[in-house]
Amino acid sequence: MGSEATKYRCVQCGHGIGTLFVQYSPGNIRLMKCERCKSVADEYIECELMILLIDLILHKTKAYRHLLYNVLLQETVDCEDDFGNAEQGLLWKSALGFLALDAYRCLILAEAEGGGLPSFTWICRKIFADVFVGNFILFSVFIVGVRSSLTIQAELSRWKDLMLVILISSYWKIFLFAMMIWEFPSSVVFIVDAFVLSSNAIALKVITDSTTKRCIMGCFAAHAAKFLATQLWKWCCSRVV
Ligand SMILES: [Zn+2]
Repeated sequence: MGSEATKYRCVQCGHGIGTLFVQYSPGNIRLMKCERCKSVADEYIECELMILLIDLILHKTKAYRHLLYNVLLQETVDCEDDFGNAEQGLLWKSALGFLALDAYRCLILAEAEGGGLPSFTWICRKIFADVFVGNFILFSVFIVGVRSSLTIQAELSRWKDLMLVILISSYWKIFLFAMMIWEFPSSVVFIVDAFVLSSNAIALKVITDSTTKRCIMGCFAAHAAKFLATQLWKWCCSRVV
Protein backbone atom coordinates (compact mmCIF):
# COMPACT_ATOMS: atom_id res chain seq x y z
CA MET A 1 0.00 0.00 0.00
CA GLY A 2 1.14 3.61 -0.59
CA SER A 3 2.70 5.62 2.20
CA GLU A 4 0.66 8.15 4.18
CA ALA A 5 2.39 10.97 2.26
CA THR A 6 0.97 9.70 -1.05
CA LYS A 7 -2.28 8.19 0.14
CA TYR A 8 -4.34 9.75 -2.67
CA ARG A 9 -3.73 10.49 -6.34
CA CYS A 10 -4.05 13.64 -8.42
CA VAL A 11 -6.76 12.78 -10.95
CA GLN A 12 -5.10 14.91 -13.63
CA CYS A 13 -1.59 13.41 -13.66
CA GLY A 14 -1.68 10.49 -11.21
CA HIS A 15 0.92 12.02 -8.87
CA GLY A 16 0.68 10.95 -5.21
CA ILE A 17 -0.73 13.44 -2.69
CA GLY A 18 -1.18 13.22 1.08
CA THR A 19 -4.60 14.87 1.34
CA LEU A 20 -7.18 16.04 -1.18
CA PHE A 21 -8.78 18.85 0.83
CA VAL A 22 -8.57 20.80 4.05
CA GLN A 23 -11.77 21.31 6.03
CA TYR A 24 -12.04 24.61 7.92
CA SER A 25 -15.61 24.10 9.16
CA PRO A 26 -18.56 21.86 8.12
CA GLY A 27 -19.22 22.57 4.43
CA ASN A 28 -16.22 24.85 4.15
CA ILE A 29 -13.36 23.06 2.44
CA ARG A 30 -10.39 23.99 0.31
CA LEU A 31 -9.30 21.59 -2.41
CA MET A 32 -5.57 20.88 -2.50
CA LYS A 33 -3.45 21.42 -5.59
CA CYS A 34 -1.09 18.87 -7.08
CA GLU A 35 2.62 19.60 -6.64
CA ARG A 36 3.46 18.29 -10.09
CA CYS A 37 0.78 19.62 -12.45
CA LYS A 38 -0.36 22.53 -10.21
CA SER A 39 -4.06 21.83 -10.91
CA VAL A 40 -6.73 20.91 -8.34
CA ALA A 41 -5.86 17.34 -7.33
CA ASP A 42 -9.42 15.97 -7.31
CA GLU A 43 -12.27 18.24 -8.34
CA TYR A 44 -14.80 15.36 -8.13
CA ILE A 45 -14.92 15.84 -4.35
CA GLU A 46 -17.13 18.87 -4.90
CA CYS A 47 -18.99 17.48 -7.93
CA GLU A 48 -22.38 15.80 -8.06
CA LEU A 49 -22.35 12.03 -8.50
CA MET A 50 -24.01 12.51 -11.89
CA ILE A 51 -20.96 14.43 -13.19
CA LEU A 52 -18.71 11.54 -12.17
CA LEU A 53 -21.04 9.02 -13.86
CA ILE A 54 -21.09 11.05 -17.07
CA ASP A 55 -17.28 11.35 -17.07
CA LEU A 56 -16.97 7.60 -16.47
CA ILE A 57 -19.29 6.94 -19.40
CA LEU A 58 -17.17 9.34 -21.48
CA HIS A 59 -14.11 7.24 -20.51
CA LYS A 60 -12.23 10.16 -18.92
CA THR A 61 -9.10 8.84 -17.22
CA LYS A 62 -9.41 11.42 -14.42
CA ALA A 63 -12.84 9.98 -13.47
CA TYR A 64 -11.37 6.46 -13.38
CA ARG A 65 -8.44 7.71 -11.24
CA HIS A 66 -10.89 9.29 -8.78
CA LEU A 67 -12.99 6.12 -8.58
CA LEU A 68 -10.15 3.60 -8.35
CA TYR A 69 -7.61 5.47 -6.19
CA ASN A 70 -9.45 8.12 -4.22
CA VAL A 71 -12.67 6.20 -3.52
CA LEU A 72 -12.30 2.47 -3.96
CA LEU A 73 -8.78 2.07 -2.61
CA GLN A 74 -9.47 4.38 0.34
CA GLU A 75 -12.64 2.53 1.30
CA THR A 76 -10.93 -0.84 1.20
CA VAL A 77 -8.03 0.46 3.31
CA ASP A 78 -10.05 2.53 5.80
CA CYS A 79 -12.83 0.00 6.45
CA GLU A 80 -10.72 -2.99 7.37
CA ASP A 81 -12.08 -4.71 10.47
CA ASP A 82 -11.58 -7.89 12.52
CA PHE A 83 -14.04 -9.92 10.48
CA GLY A 84 -12.13 -9.73 7.24
CA ASN A 85 -11.90 -6.64 5.15
CA ALA A 86 -14.17 -4.44 3.11
CA GLU A 87 -12.30 -5.27 -0.08
CA GLN A 88 -13.19 -8.92 0.30
CA GLY A 89 -16.89 -8.03 0.66
CA LEU A 90 -16.83 -5.63 -2.26
CA LEU A 91 -14.99 -8.19 -4.36
CA TRP A 92 -17.60 -10.88 -3.69
CA LYS A 93 -20.54 -8.55 -4.28
CA SER A 94 -19.16 -7.19 -7.54
CA ALA A 95 -18.17 -10.71 -8.68
CA LEU A 96 -21.70 -12.01 -8.05
CA GLY A 97 -23.23 -9.02 -9.85
CA PHE A 98 -20.82 -9.49 -12.75
CA LEU A 99 -21.58 -13.23 -13.08
CA ALA A 100 -25.35 -12.67 -12.79
CA LEU A 101 -25.27 -10.04 -15.55
CA ASP A 102 -23.11 -12.32 -17.69
CA ALA A 103 -25.60 -15.16 -17.18
CA TYR A 104 -28.41 -12.81 -18.25
CA ARG A 105 -26.34 -11.90 -21.33
CA CYS A 106 -26.18 -15.63 -22.20
CA LEU A 107 -29.95 -15.92 -21.89
CA ILE A 108 -30.52 -12.96 -24.21
CA LEU A 109 -28.22 -14.48 -26.85
CA ALA A 110 -29.67 -18.00 -26.42
CA GLU A 111 -33.20 -16.64 -26.81
CA ALA A 112 -32.18 -14.71 -29.94
CA GLU A 113 -30.44 -17.76 -31.46
CA GLY A 114 -33.28 -20.23 -30.94
CA GLY A 115 -36.26 -17.90 -31.27
CA GLY A 116 -37.27 -18.68 -27.67
CA LEU A 117 -35.86 -20.00 -24.41
CA PRO A 118 -34.29 -23.49 -24.85
CA SER A 119 -34.41 -26.32 -22.29
CA PHE A 120 -33.23 -25.88 -18.70
CA THR A 121 -30.32 -28.35 -19.13
CA TRP A 122 -29.15 -26.54 -22.25
CA ILE A 123 -29.27 -23.19 -20.44
CA CYS A 124 -27.26 -24.60 -17.49
CA ARG A 125 -24.61 -26.02 -19.81
CA LYS A 126 -24.34 -22.76 -21.75
CA ILE A 127 -24.17 -20.63 -18.62
CA PHE A 128 -21.47 -22.90 -17.17
CA ALA A 129 -19.42 -22.67 -20.37
CA ASP A 130 -19.88 -18.94 -21.03
CA VAL A 131 -20.02 -17.58 -17.50
CA PHE A 132 -17.75 -19.78 -15.41
CA VAL A 133 -15.24 -21.25 -17.88
CA GLY A 134 -15.16 -18.08 -20.01
CA ASN A 135 -14.66 -15.70 -17.10
CA PHE A 136 -12.10 -17.93 -15.43
CA ILE A 137 -10.02 -17.66 -18.61
CA LEU A 138 -10.74 -13.91 -18.90
CA PHE A 139 -9.53 -13.13 -15.39
CA SER A 140 -6.57 -15.53 -15.62
CA VAL A 141 -5.33 -13.91 -18.83
CA PHE A 142 -5.88 -10.43 -17.38
CA ILE A 143 -4.07 -11.06 -14.14
CA VAL A 144 -1.19 -13.13 -15.51
CA GLY A 145 -0.79 -10.87 -18.58
CA VAL A 146 -0.91 -7.60 -16.64
CA ARG A 147 1.44 -8.75 -13.88
CA SER A 148 3.96 -10.17 -16.29
CA SER A 149 4.04 -7.51 -19.00
CA LEU A 150 2.78 -4.21 -17.55
CA THR A 151 4.01 -2.09 -14.65
CA ILE A 152 1.24 -1.83 -12.08
CA GLN A 153 1.05 0.91 -9.46
CA ALA A 154 2.06 -0.60 -6.10
CA GLU A 155 -1.29 0.20 -4.41
CA LEU A 156 -3.23 -2.04 -6.79
CA SER A 157 -0.73 -4.78 -7.54
CA ARG A 158 -2.31 -7.73 -5.70
CA TRP A 159 -4.43 -10.13 -7.75
CA LYS A 160 -7.50 -9.23 -5.67
CA ASP A 161 -7.03 -5.54 -6.47
CA LEU A 162 -6.67 -6.33 -10.15
CA MET A 163 -9.82 -8.44 -10.12
CA LEU A 164 -11.72 -5.66 -8.38
CA VAL A 165 -10.50 -3.11 -10.95
CA ILE A 166 -11.69 -5.35 -13.81
CA LEU A 167 -15.05 -6.04 -12.13
CA ILE A 168 -15.74 -2.40 -11.29
CA SER A 169 -14.68 -1.19 -14.74
CA SER A 170 -17.11 -3.69 -16.29
CA TYR A 171 -19.98 -1.56 -14.94
CA TRP A 172 -21.26 -1.21 -18.53
CA LYS A 173 -22.91 -4.60 -18.10
CA ILE A 174 -25.53 -2.85 -15.95
CA PHE A 175 -26.95 -1.49 -19.21
CA LEU A 176 -28.13 -5.04 -19.95
CA PHE A 177 -30.82 -4.33 -17.35
CA ALA A 178 -32.34 -1.91 -19.83
CA MET A 179 -32.97 -4.91 -22.08
CA MET A 180 -35.29 -6.37 -19.42
CA ILE A 181 -37.48 -3.29 -19.64
CA TRP A 182 -37.25 -2.14 -23.24
CA GLU A 183 -37.13 -4.20 -26.41
CA PHE A 184 -33.69 -4.01 -27.99
CA PRO A 185 -32.19 -6.11 -30.78
CA SER A 186 -29.85 -8.75 -29.31
CA SER A 187 -26.93 -7.12 -31.17
CA VAL A 188 -26.98 -4.42 -28.46
CA VAL A 189 -25.28 -7.06 -26.26
CA PHE A 190 -22.18 -6.82 -28.46
CA ILE A 191 -22.20 -3.02 -28.23
CA VAL A 192 -22.24 -3.37 -24.43
CA ASP A 193 -19.35 -5.88 -24.75
CA ALA A 194 -17.34 -3.33 -26.74
CA PHE A 195 -17.88 -0.67 -24.06
CA VAL A 196 -16.90 -3.15 -21.32
CA LEU A 197 -13.66 -3.84 -23.21
CA SER A 198 -12.86 -0.16 -23.69
CA SER A 199 -13.72 0.60 -20.05
CA ASN A 200 -11.41 -2.23 -18.89
CA ALA A 201 -8.68 -0.73 -21.07
CA ILE A 202 -9.03 2.74 -19.50
CA ALA A 203 -8.96 1.23 -15.99
CA LEU A 204 -5.85 -0.73 -16.96
CA LYS A 205 -4.22 2.44 -18.28
CA VAL A 206 -4.94 4.21 -14.99
CA ILE A 207 -3.42 1.49 -12.80
CA THR A 208 -0.39 0.89 -15.03
CA ASP A 209 2.18 3.07 -16.73
CA SER A 210 1.28 1.71 -20.15
CA THR A 211 0.04 3.34 -23.32
CA THR A 212 -3.65 3.24 -24.31
CA LYS A 213 -2.79 1.07 -27.33
CA ARG A 214 -1.07 -1.55 -25.17
CA CYS A 215 -3.94 -1.61 -22.69
CA ILE A 216 -6.54 -2.00 -25.44
CA MET A 217 -4.51 -4.84 -26.95
CA GLY A 218 -4.21 -6.52 -23.54
CA CYS A 219 -7.97 -6.28 -22.94
CA PHE A 220 -8.71 -7.46 -26.44
CA ALA A 221 -6.45 -10.50 -25.90
CA ALA A 222 -8.22 -11.36 -22.61
CA HIS A 223 -11.71 -11.04 -24.13
CA ALA A 224 -10.62 -13.01 -27.23
CA ALA A 225 -9.23 -15.77 -24.97
CA LYS A 226 -12.60 -15.90 -23.19
CA PHE A 227 -14.44 -16.24 -26.50
CA LEU A 228 -12.08 -18.96 -27.78
CA ALA A 229 -12.25 -20.88 -24.50
CA THR A 230 -16.07 -20.95 -24.56
CA GLN A 231 -16.09 -22.05 -28.20
CA LEU A 232 -13.54 -24.78 -27.44
CA TRP A 233 -15.56 -25.92 -24.43
CA LYS A 234 -18.73 -26.13 -26.53
CA TRP A 235 -16.89 -28.07 -29.24
CA CYS A 236 -15.52 -30.54 -26.66
CA CYS A 237 -19.00 -30.98 -25.13
CA SER A 238 -20.55 -31.60 -28.57
CA ARG A 239 -17.91 -34.32 -29.24
CA VAL A 240 -18.65 -36.02 -25.91
CA VAL A 241 -22.47 -35.98 -26.24
ZN1 LIG B 1 -1.21 16.44 -10.86
